[in-house]
Amino acid sequence: MLLRIIAVLACLLSLVLCAEDFYKLLGIKKDASEREIKKAYRTLSKKFHPDKNPGDQSAHDKFVLVAEAYDCLIDVEQRRIYDQYGHEGLEQHKRGGGRPQHHDPFDLFSRFFGGSGHFGHSGGERRGPNMEVRVAVPLRDFYNGRQTEFTVEKQAICSACEGTGSEDGQVDTCDVCGGRGMRITRQQLAPGLFQQVQSMCDACHGKGKKIQHPCPVCGGSRVVREPETHELNVEKGMPRGVRITYENEADESPDWVAGDLIVHLVEADPQLGTEEHEKTDGTFFRRRGKDLFWREVLSLREAWMGDWTRNITHLDGHIVQLSRKRGEVVQPNTVEIVQGEGMPLWHQELPEGVDEAFGVLHIEYVVILPDEMEKAMEKEFWSVWEKWRKKKGVNLLQDSGRPTPHDEL
Ligand SMILES: [Zn+2]
Ligand SMILES: [Zn+2]
Repeated sequence: MLLRIIAVLACLLSLVLCAEDFYKLLGIKKDASEREIKKAYRTLSKKFHPDKNPGDQSAHDKFVLVAEAYDCLIDVEQRRIYDQYGHEGLEQHKRGGGRPQHHDPFDLFSRFFGGSGHFGHSGGERRGPNMEVRVAVPLRDFYNGRQTEFTVEKQAICSACEGTGSEDGQVDTCDVCGGRGMRITRQQLAPGLFQQVQSMCDACHGKGKKIQHPCPVCGGSRVVREPETHELNVEKGMPRGVRITYENEADESPDWVAGDLIVHLVEADPQLGTEEHEKTDGTFFRRRGKDLFWREVLSLREAWMGDWTRNITHLDGHIVQLSRKRGEVVQPNTVEIVQGEGMPLWHQELPEGVDEAFGVLHIEYVVILPDEMEKAMEKEFWSVWEKWRKKKGVNLLQDSGRPTPHDEL
């Protein structure tokens, strides 16, 4: 009795699961392109793969369903029927002798990621090499955070022949070497003395297989080179040189499970953008860890007499105002620390219980003296200097206590 209830429940459950909308399941829109469907499959099949969720039946079911949804939506005719008549229409179509396109979910997985459909952490599955790329983004993106994308060219399993290398899917075992890829021949060294020599089978070039009609897309090599675009989430405050791993997105081959694609996120050289919001002073800030650095130029008058204001546009366009009142002197090379105007701290580096924190902005003041003056101006300044110098001037040469040239004699 109990068993029967369980059986009924399981049946109901599978009905509920089966009835889940394919588009919703893959997280795509009704008008999703072939590329978007493939992308969704890549992401979800890795997420729900049983090797990654050992013992989790619901993940396993999802993995199967994702493959089913992919199989349906990638086929133009099945997709049309599904769009019009839903799950039931699709079932009828399959029963009515429509082209069956049921793939084993693991087989489908292996057509995307190579190997035999498993991740290769167990069971001695071969794993392809990891791939490393550098992606440069401007400092602005490290400050504001940004959802962007990048494209890499990689080796992918040929989708025209599904990685078989054969146009009609027919792959035969080489009859010369019997599939071993090697041939053993006997060479006579001297009368009655033979040596066995092992050499590569030249009928199949060591592959052990023969294809009558090579795939026209990959020429029988089973793989093609193609660009692939990945999403890149630059998080606020991410450190320069951070490594982001895209699991199983390196070069693919039917002979192995694809390795990981590893992105090194580096900072691009500063460059004023073309859009208004990109034209900020902040573009030229220098970053060290969570702190930012900026050099501000003051004239002699400003440094000495005060009464000036500067508006620095930060990386997100907000303004940091610097100013001195009349009479406030700034010595050359002074460094002013502006709290809270450095980089945002990356969420992984925030102290516990803190939602947001910033480093500081270092402002180094550089004072520029005029090297040319109008004659009249020079005269006026000179006489002011003379007047006040005589009154209370300091003679640095005399008052320093250094020996005069006279003392040296
Ligand atoms: Zn052979
Ligand atoms: Zn091919």
